[in-house]
Amino acid sequence: MAETIGFIGLGNMGLPMVEQLLKAEYAVRAFDLSEPALKQADAAGATIADSIADAARGATTVVTMLPAGQHVRTVYLSDDGLISSAAPGTLLIDSSTIDVETSRAVGTAASNSRLEMIDAPVTGGVMAARVGKLNFIVGGTEEAFERARPVLDVMGQKLLYAGPQGSGIGVKICNNMSLGISMIAAAETLMMAKRLGLDLERTFEIITNASGQNWALSNYCPLPGFLEGVPSTNGYKPGFTAEMMRKDLRLSQDAARSVDACTPLAAHALSIFSHFCDSGDSQTDYSGISKLIGGDAWDYPFDPGGE
Ligand code: NAD
Repeated sequence: MAETIGFIGLGNMGLPMVEQLLKAEYAVRAFDLSEPALKQADAAGATIADSIADAARGATTVVTMLPAGQHVRTVYLSDDGLISSAAPGTLLIDSSTIDVETSRAVGTAASNSRLEMIDAPVTGGVMAARVGKLNFIVGGTEEAFERARPVLDVMGQKLLYAGPQGSGIGVKICNNMSLGISMIAAAETLMMAKRLGLDLERTFEIITNASGQNWALSNYCPLPGFLEGVPSTNGYKPGFTAEMMRKDLRLSQDAARSVDACTPLAAHALSIFSHFCDSGDSQTDYSGISKLIGGDAWDYPFDPGGE
């Protein structure tokens, strides 16, 4: 008999992840608050559950893919939530991008109830989810990580072990904080070169082979025409939306405040992305920030003045 996986949160990411699990011949019990999402999961071949507890019934593993910390608290910690309804020994995998505090609180509640839990947030968006090529950054015991490996392998291409529970989300937030800052750095660099009248092709070639190189510039260039297949060359169609970058930068600032970390560049990056989102570009790819950094359609400077 096929092993049963419970899956809660059948949105843009969750549904294609469920489809990969079904393709690998797992039986999936799926739950969401949204009727259309449930219908799509049904059409894909999942068994529709009518509650969180029903999704966990008979499942060896339950995966959650929810919007934010508050939803994760509801699904795990409410009276009829996962912690009180999953059978002892069930492996819980939270792949939502949430705050570190919630992730750790839920992980502690799980282990107090003899449930194994890992946080396994992803990098890679909907396209990667559709083809089972997400990257999972995992926090939890090494035993739980090994136990989760077969299920994560079906949905992902790289499984990266980060450390104890809560570390996966912590590392993801640190990574995306760096990415948000470096995308702005890449945009500022190319826009200044443009204003200086430099040969942009040569500038790009030299800097991507010099000490000013960063991943955003080399692999996800925020100006069109340098790289094929990136959003800037495709009208800034996402990809990874500016709104998602804003969410992750907000999470970075929550985390920084909670431990008194000094992150002035990330604070400024958040105000720049917020301005971009609030100007009607929340669904533009985050590399579209180059339009704001000195592009023709935007006025700069602006007053960042906090978020
Ligand atoms: P989404 O909003 O499309 O889907 C979330 C789903 O969770 C919705 O269908 C919603 O109805 C459901 N939900 C909310 N509360 C619920 C509850 N109490 N019980 C059951 N279901 C509930 O979001 P998404 O784009 O799929 O993203 C999910 C997570 O993945 C987020 O944390 C996001 O930051 C992260 N993420 C998304 C992307 C992306 O490209 N979309 C990339 C990387 C990470």
